[in-house]
Formats: sequence, C-alpha cells, structure tokens
Amino acid sequence: MHEIIILDLEWNTAYSTRRGRFVNEIIEFGAVKLDDNLQVIDSFQMFVKSKLSKKLRGKVKELTHITNEDIRENGVELSKVISAFKRWAGKEAVIMTWSNSDLYVLLDNCRCFTRYETIPFLYKYMDLQKYVHDVIEFEDNKQLGLVTASEMFEIDSSEIALHRAVGDSELCAEILKKCYDEEIIDGYIQRADIPEFYDRLCFKPFVITDINSPYIGNVNMRINCEKCGNSLRRKNQWKYKNKHFTAMFYCKNCNEDFEGRVQVKKMYDGVAIKKSVHPLKKEETENK
Ligand SMILES: [Zn+2]
Repeated sequence: MHEIIILDLEWNTAYSTRRGRFVNEIIEFGAVKLDDNLQVIDSFQMFVKSKLSKKLRGKVKELTHITNEDIRENGVELSKVISAFKRWAGKEAVIMTWSNSDLYVLLDNCRCFTRYETIPFLYKYMDLQKYVHDVIEFEDNKQLGLVTASEMFEIDSSEIALHRAVGDSELCAEILKKCYDEEIIDGYIQRADIPEFYDRLCFKPFVITDINSPYIGNVNMRINCEKCGNSLRRKNQWKYKNKHFTAMFYCKNCNEDFEGRVQVKKMYDGVAIKKSVHPLKKEETENK
C-alpha cells in the first residue's frame, strides 16, 4: 500500500510584466493525506501571497469564495508554502493531482517566483484524472471533470467545500475510494525526481506538417476502402492542409474514388495517427 497525498491548487490569472505574459498564479494549496483504508487522516491548507496582483479576478472569487483579504492577510510567500508542504508531505508519499494541469501551473510558479527549477517536494506522482478516466473507460477525447466523475460514482458532495483546494482534494479521495485498485495504480505512478518527468510534463504535442519529416518514416500511411476494406491505391501526392495530409485514392474493387486524410501528431512517446476516408462525388473527381 502506498502512502497517498492528494494535492489541489487554486490559482488566479494575472499579467506578469517581467515575463510579458499571463501567469496562473497559485493562491491556495490544499491537500489531504490518506491512510491504508483511504481515509483522510490529515489535511494541509495555506494561502499564497500574490506577487503579481493584489486583486483576484471576479470569476475566481465567485467560484472559490476566496477573498482579497484572505490572500493579503493570510497569504504566505510561495517558497515558504512549498517548504511547509515538503515537511508535511515527506518523501515517501505518492502525490496525486486531478489532471496534470495543476502540476504544470505549480512548475511554472516555481520557476517564476522561487529559485526552484523543478517541484522540490515531488518524488512520486500520479495523475488521478488519467487513472479514473481509464478505469471507467470515459469517452476518449473528453476531459473528465472532477464533479462529473463524482456524480458518476454517486458521491454525496453536499458536505464538501467544492472549488476550494482542500474540498477538491477530499472529493478526489472519495473518487479514489470508489475505484482503487493497487495493481492498476502501480502502472500509473511515475517517478518524478528525474529530468524525464519534466520533459514529459512540458512537452506539447504538435501536428507534423512536412510529409518528409523523419517522424513520418515509421507511420503506416495506407488507407482502406470504407466500403470493402481493401487497401486503396493513392493517385496523387500527399498535400498538407488543415492539420492533416490529404490525397486522392482509388478502390479497384469498388471502382470508386476517395479522399483519404491522415493526421500525424508527435507525442512525447512516438506519434498519434488519425485517419479518415470520404467518397468523392463525381464532379469533384472530374475537377481534379
Ligand atoms: Zn472498395
């Protein structure tokens, strides 16, 4: 059984003149520690003093009920919050967040507002959203929201302060209880004290636009007929258009022309490929 800590952050978007961009500045840390029965045995809460803006955005205030006074009067400098959290968390626990976006924001805040280039308290990490998404076989292309997930598990959240860091962590703990499987979870825990972890976290997938790119080298660009399943014959050169490669194809079985599309996206590990095929109308064929 792993020691588990669930961490949640609230943040406020503010403009950094020094960085020349908007930064999601963390305003609250909240976390819960779980025992072997996944019961909450301890919690952590701290407000973070803002460096960029004295005022919270209306939307943030509305959603979290955190006030400007909370931050101004009770906020502690980020590096001190991180030190306190590090002491509280220890080195052994697996730290979980709901999606890695909190982690991405945390890393950005470390780099903007402290001397840290990595997250100093992170040794083992698990993206809880990804785990739950996979075990319940949620729709592939959709983000699974925390509240949606809790509703799917019929969790009563009436006693939980939602959209607050500790409350959201508690809700995560309730969700984890409903779908905890030690063996499966092992496969989702990542070592976080190695450079590769940060390379992966910061990697942005991108669409390949050049058909001669070395990433295309291993991609199977073949397209099958949507009617008979036969492999189609390509009639012209691939062209790049609207985030995919497109070409004309012919099925000799069906004696019909098709337009085939392949999108190749570079991911941290390898490439992701999406294919589609559409019959061409007679006029389109004659025009080409
Ligand atoms: Zn066919």
